[in-house]
Formats: sequence, C-alpha cells, structure tokens
Amino acid sequence: MEIKTDALVLRCADSGENDKMVTLLTAELGKVGAMMKGVKKVGAKLRVFAQPFCFAEVVLFEKEGRRRVISASLHDGFFSLLEDLASFYGAAVVARVCDTLSFEGMESRPLLVSAVKALEGLCADKEPLFSLVPFFVDALAFAGYQVSAGACPFCGKELKGRMRFDLSFGAFACRDCGQGVEASETTYRAVKAAVAGEKIGDRDGALRAFRLLCAYFFEKTGTQLREAEEFLRVI
Ligand SMILES: [Zn+2]
Repeated sequence: MEIKTDALVLRCADSGENDKMVTLLTAELGKVGAMMKGVKKVGAKLRVFAQPFCFAEVVLFEKEGRRRVISASLHDGFFSLLEDLASFYGAAVVARVCDTLSFEGMESRPLLVSAVKALEGLCADKEPLFSLVPFFVDALAFAGYQVSAGACPFCGKELKGRMRFDLSFGAFACRDCGQGVEASETTYRAVKAAVAGEKIGDRDGALRAFRLLCAYFFEKTGTQLREAEEFLRVI
C-alpha cells in the first residue's frame, strides 16, 4: 500500500551501510518510523531529505507493518538552521516536543503546522524564543495540556504582580488563591500573548515563559528536554 502525506523528519538513525531509519511526524498517520534505502550513498535521490527538520510530501510504501519512503518532494529543508547554534537547538526542541507528544495513528496536522511555523520562525532572523513559546503552547494544547492564562480561576480577579502557576492544571492564579510555582507578571504576559496568538514583544518574558513551559512539559510527560538546556546555554 502507498500513502502520500506531508511529513517532518524528527530523527534519523543510521541503519546498515547505506540506509537510514527516519522518524516522521506526518499529518495523517501521526508519528511513524520509515526506512530510507540507499540514502547514505553519494548522489542518492532522497539523500537531502534524510536529515532532521526536513519538511516534505512523502510517499510511504507499507507492507506487513513496515514502511519505506519511496519518494519525497521537499517543501522546505530549513537548511539555515545549521548556520546558527541557537536556532539549531531551538529546532531540536521543536522536534523533541513533537516526538514526545505524537503517536502512531493520531491525526497530527495541527501539531505539524505549528512545528513548521516554528521552524520558519527560527530560520527568520528574529529572537528564537518568540517562535518557541507560541509553538510550545500550541503543542501542549494539541496533546490536551492546555495552558490557561486568563483571570484567577478562584477569585476571578485580573492577575497582577507576583502570582502562581499550577503545574498540574496548567493555570495561573493569584499568589494567595492558587498553588504551585511562583511566577512573575512578565512570564504571565508572555504566555497570555502566546495563548491568544498575539506577538510576544518582551524577550525576558519569553525566556521566563519558556522555562515555565519546560517545567509544565516535564510535569505532564516526564520528559526532561535536554535540547532546551542546550538551547538556553547558547542564547
Ligand atoms: Zn485569586
């Protein structure tokens, strides 16, 4: 059986002398593994596609539960990610988050769209955090871990000053009403902008929001984002 789908390469691993095994985030099939035959040979047609962050329309051939990429038409290779360390590690965060939150058989177009948008942002010459924070919020919501950045859920008051973020419920609340880790208004404003799909203007807020979302991600998935630590080291 042949299946045509949009796919983003999340991971690659060598397999034998000439082949690679790729992990793909696809729109229709969710996360799938597929073999790419002969792609380590110089001049192989699919060679350019067999690397992380490549986004393409692929044709998968499936037989007895095994898949093989038989053709690919590149949408974007995001090759400029390799020229800047912060953008590269940012992209690695995107790939790892997708890898953790997606499963085989799960329709994943919204996650794929968010990931591609984030990679485009990381390639553009702007602050990488302004792409990563909105992606993180979208990806978490896709997996059912919505972030709530409205009024205090307990007393209904508008949130100001020092407050709390509950890592179990993914919600901000007043310092006295809520439980959880302490958070600043700057953090809250950056997350709130990302949830609303608005631009984040403040880098410090975006940085704090990114750290908070990493903690929330760990709380929900048990996955420590090593890529995020690397990213924070180089920005
Ligand atoms: Zn309150």
